[in-house]
Amino acid sequence: MVVDEADDGLSESVRRSLAATVYARPTSLALGALTGVFATAIAAYITSLPILAYGYILLCLIALGRATAAYGLASGHAGRSTRMLEVIYEIGALSYALVLGTIAAITMLYEVHRAVEVLMVSSALGYGIGICARNAGRPALAMGQLVLVCAPIMASCLAMGSLVYFVLFVNILLLLPAMASITFNVFMVLRDSITSAKTNAQLAAQMQDLARTDVVTGLANRAGLNHAMTEKMKAIADDAQLALIWLDLDKFKEVNDLLGHPVGDEVLRKVADRLLDVCPPDAQANSAVVARFGGDEFIIFTPIENRQHAEQIASEIHAEIMRPMRIGAERIEVRTSIGVAITPDEGRDIDTLMQCADQALYHAKSAGRAQTCFFAPSMTRDLVRRREVEEELRAAILADQLSVFFQPIIDLETGKIRCFEALVRWFHPEKGQVPPDEFIPIAEESGLILTLGNWITVQAAKAAAQWPDDVSIAVNLSPMQIRAPGATLGIINALRAAKLDPSRLILEVTESLFLEDDAATTDFIEDLSARGVRFALDDFGTGYSSLGYIHRYPFSKIKIDRSFVSGDNAGVKSRAIIRAVAEMGKQLDMEIVAEGLETAGQIEWIKQAGCTMGQGYHFSPAAPADQAEILLAQDRGQEFGQSEFETALKQLRA
Ligand code: C2E
Ligand code: CA
Ligand code: CA
Repeated sequence: MVVDEADDGLSESVRRSLAATVYARPTSLALGALTGVFATAIAAYITSLPILAYGYILLCLIALGRATAAYGLASGHAGRSTRMLEVIYEIGALSYALVLGTIAAITMLYEVHRAVEVLMVSSALGYGIGICARNAGRPALAMGQLVLVCAPIMASCLAMGSLVYFVLFVNILLLLPAMASITFNVFMVLRDSITSAKTNAQLAAQMQDLARTDVVTGLANRAGLNHAMTEKMKAIADDAQLALIWLDLDKFKEVNDLLGHPVGDEVLRKVADRLLDVCPPDAQANSAVVARFGGDEFIIFTPIENRQHAEQIASEIHAEIMRPMRIGAERIEVRTSIGVAITPDEGRDIDTLMQCADQALYHAKSAGRAQTCFFAPSMTRDLVRRREVEEELRAAILADQLSVFFQPIIDLETGKIRCFEALVRWFHPEKGQVPPDEFIPIAEESGLILTLGNWITVQAAKAAAQWPDDVSIAVNLSPMQIRAPGATLGIINALRAAKLDPSRLILEVTESLFLEDDAATTDFIEDLSARGVRFALDDFGTGYSSLGYIHRYPFSKIKIDRSFVSGDNAGVKSRAIIRAVAEMGKQLDMEIVAEGLETAGQIEWIKQAGCTMGQGYHFSPAAPADQAEILLAQDRGQEFGQSEFETALKQLRA
């Protein structure tokens, strides 16, 4: 027999918490029970009535049972035994109330000392009222106890028949609804506060879940990953192996740029699903964490058996991601670069592990993307070397170790120089010449390119101001230079300082500039175009080679990458491509420049394919400003000692 609450609309967890208020702090309960037991002992002793002695023994037994049950419940053992203990507690509570009330009623019926009657009746009523308030968390139980205490006393009042007892009867009768109302009020307050505490706790948990989830993919986000990684590190054994697999989708920006963000998001979701297929997470501690680290980067943190196991997971990831995706009408193929670091090889510190995986990823990307690199200590050495170069480059700029060289760009029709491309050179006192391909990326990464680029533009404009008006100057610009605040002004100032007409400046940019949709880029190009500066699309054919960019921006020149002329790509196919690009150039009134011309034969077929201009070692490598002037003078048919020119050219070709 378990007392059921009237209000069963309560959620089970709130009901449990309310019930818990009844079983909490059994000390007050024990004290309450002891007062009744003690009063009965005194009454039995003074009156020597055997019935009171039996009552006393009964109370003791019940109190003992309840105390045991209450302590058991308070200690919080869950499970089936909880329900049993609750039943014992409730039966005990109700029977204790009945026995105590009955003993008080008996002292009223027997001719006992008045003090004994007062002691028992007031103890019983006091207990009934007290327990009723205490157990308000379960109102039915509370009221049941009060009624069972009062009923025998009220019966005795009626049996005594005198006016005073009758008034007592009425008072107790009035007490019942009054206590019912108080108990119910306390119950409501308790219930509401428990319910709202539960709701708040639930909301807080939901908010925390949200804060740790990526909205696009539903995977853990950066915060979620941090949390999960920390938990996992705590949970695993010291020698357990885990792999941190860091993915960066290759050229994902192009997907976003060309197909729009909704398609980009869909690609990210598909990637997420495929990663979950490779590393299915389950509830166990040894399952994988799959997270989106932001942008097009994902991280998997997964237990592994050994390094081969990690390699196998990485190759499964490549295979899964490479499978073509169909999104709407588009068929999209995605590739990814992967960097892997393993704990405990690379330590058990999460930050260190992340740094190692990041370095490995950097290597995978610079080694040509779409591949996996495992962290190796040599990578840290590379990083150190990059830092070293950065420091040295900083010093070199101050120490004037850099200079700008000029490589002629020839009109293939007339054979005359139409333009020079400015190419930076670094002569290191110990290492000799450092190639720009090595230090320009470092200058870009470190932001040094801003200072360096400004300086190059100024030098180039100054040199060009000395040349005939129909010879222009081409300057290479890195994307970062263009996006920097005040980029337009930097170019205008360089032109002004050199008194060079803007129409003689050509800025060479690569497609990588357009991979980030950026208003600053558009403003820069439009602003300078309006002033007469021209733009060339450099290294055409190595990137996405999107005709969209050619259409959108006012390019006056397209430079076909040298790999089409002399590299591994050169062949029948590349000739067809060059022919198509040249044809397009003709239609759109753009110059088509072929880079990397090294032989007369190349020049011949390039001309036939329709290119209008050429650049390459066959004409001349990049040369210092004074030698560029000699080349120009010779080109313009000025009188020069033949030997002087020959020496200059020989020096250049050496
Ligand atoms: P780029 O803009 O494609 O420059 C052309 C590169 O091809 C130059 O290499 C040039 O020396 C080389 N080259 C010219 N003719 C031939 C040839 O017939 N055969 C071969 N194999 N190569 C030829 P360089 O000077 O080493 O520059 C490499 C890259 O470094 C440049 O590629 C450009 O991206 C970057 N760079 C060079 N100078 C600057 C600069 O002042 N600013 C910026 N932002 N980047 C620069
Ligand atoms: Ca260039
Ligand atoms: Ca180029």
